[in-house]
Amino acid sequence: MDWNNLNRDDIIALLETDDEATEQELFARAYELKLQTVGRKVYFRGIIEFSNVCTKNCFYCGIRRDNTHVQRYTMTERQVLDAARWAWEQRYGSIVMQSGERSDPAFVDMVERLLRGIKELSNGELGITLSLGEQTADTYRRWFAAGAHRYLLRIESSNPALYASLHPEDHDWNRRLNCLHDLREAGYQVGTGVMIGLPGQTAADLADDIAFFRAQDIDMIGMGPYVVHHDTPLAARVQHFDPQRQLHLALRMIALTRLVLRDVNIASTTALQALDPQGREMGLQAGANIIMPVLTDLEYRGDYLLYDNKPCVDENASLCRACLERRILTVGEEVGYGQLGDSPHFFARRDA
Ligand code: SAH
Ligand code: SF4
Repeated sequence: MDWNNLNRDDIIALLETDDEATEQELFARAYELKLQTVGRKVYFRGIIEFSNVCTKNCFYCGIRRDNTHVQRYTMTERQVLDAARWAWEQRYGSIVMQSGERSDPAFVDMVERLLRGIKELSNGELGITLSLGEQTADTYRRWFAAGAHRYLLRIESSNPALYASLHPEDHDWNRRLNCLHDLREAGYQVGTGVMIGLPGQTAADLADDIAFFRAQDIDMIGMGPYVVHHDTPLAARVQHFDPQRQLHLALRMIALTRLVLRDVNIASTTALQALDPQGREMGLQAGANIIMPVLTDLEYRGDYLLYDNKPCVDENASLCRACLERRILTVGEEVGYGQLGDSPHFFARRDA
């Protein structure tokens, strides 16, 4: 197998192998390439989950519109600005603003105001990634002009048929794809990703997901294991949920994505830690280089549950910071404080 040039069959075989030594070699090769391409520094993106109000109904997600067991909240603008200021004072390079999907004018205006406010309070230094779902091209442009420079919108699966099986009929894969194009046009560093280990998903689907990232020339990857949320329609379709299997499949996807895409930023997502206490460190060792410490106010954390067993819901932001820093040091890496940690891939394309 040519590790520098993995083909679709190699990727499928590596996703399916039962051989532990092969898995270890995959992780080691991905880690080595990570050191060469993006280095040993881990960048923090403090994530502010500022609202769990959502107009959509994705079958897998705990905060979907029809889940009536969720207490809905929206943080005040003051609370969001305070969380962002805290991140800046801690010398986090960037924050991520995430919420359920809304596209009404009041919401679009609020986000725009928040972006300007955050840029102002941080002397323009704090990087801002948005993860607010599907919006019009005009909204994307307005938010970019107000100071956001990265956007994370997962395609969830590059297979439209699988996507259709995970969403109600009015959720449209093609629309999502068009959003990725609109984001690129608007000037953002574009991030996408998938859920790994979904019911009905094959290793070939996952191999095609990596090919999709490459074909779309994606700058940042935020992907993670699918984790059941008990109060969702998809939970009924999962016969046996095996956390270790999900974890290892997700880690292999991280490693393979590093090997194929090389110089992109890849997040070691919180969902990994829902499956194993060491999940996020394992992600770093499989080739990821970004961590997203939660900054959401403690009073709301227990209401932003996309999946079961979400970790860190009882810890405040400074505990999260200390805990993550310790975890990062134990695997021999360091935190890139005070740096944006942009995707080298974005600049390589721009400057080409
Ligand atoms: N509403 C926005 C952002 C919040 S959801 C959006 O959908 O883009 C962010 C991500 O959480 C989704 O893209 C999805 O991939 C992930 N997610 C939702 N439910 C999940 C689950 N049960 N297991 C793992 N990831 C999940
Ligand atoms: Fe809403 Fe995002 Fe959850 Fe879908 S995944 S229900 S859009 S929060």
